[in-house]
Amino acid sequence: MNSKTIDILFKKLNDSIPKPVTELLHGNPFELLISVILSAQATDVSVNKVTPELFSAFPTPEKMQKAGAEEIITYIKSIGLAPTKSKNIAAACGELVKKHQGKVPQNREDLEALPGVGRKTANVILNTAFGKPVIAVDTHVFRISNRTGIAHGKTVLEVENRLMSVIPSKWKKDAHHLLILHGRYVCKSRKPECANCVIADECEFPDKSFL
Ligand code: SF4
Repeated sequence: MNSKTIDILFKKLNDSIPKPVTELLHGNPFELLISVILSAQATDVSVNKVTPELFSAFPTPEKMQKAGAEEIITYIKSIGLAPTKSKNIAAACGELVKKHQGKVPQNREDLEALPGVGRKTANVILNTAFGKPVIAVDTHVFRISNRTGIAHGKTVLEVENRLMSVIPSKWKKDAHHLLILHGRYVCKSRKPECANCVIADECEFPDKSFL
């Protein structure tokens, strides 16, 4: 897809999604970090069901660390991989207290050094909490990038690198949420709603015969 088409595509997505922001409930970078760790292989809806009580009980990294994995898990047991996630959250909070004065670091290296935080989570935090123009590639972004032809790639990193090189600077900050929300509600995994899609003219997905 050429750069002019990519620009038009993002303008259309931007017009159709007035608020390209995360659906994870959070009030500060710390809460966002915990929510994103919880959201691995879980829906935002399921995470939002448990976090208000969790954050109310343990509002700071210090308090979350002191609570420890055994207490944390009692709040998040309805979420998949709860045992691993509660251990990672307790350990990550320990690192925040020990190495970062209880604050979420604003650089990739320190973020990725936290237990339970990989490249995708680090990108979400950098973008959503700190406004950096980076693009986290989750399952929706990976699928839609390949389907539309914005960025082909066999691996998440390939797609991320390609997105970063082809998306015009002015769209980079919002690109993650524009793609994720379009993927979640329109360009769905099994049945993309091509007939209701605002970027159907730009999309290279071959099977739009039912339009
Ligand atoms: S036209 Fe269909 S495949 Fe292409 S982005 Fe829209 S919903 Fe997805």
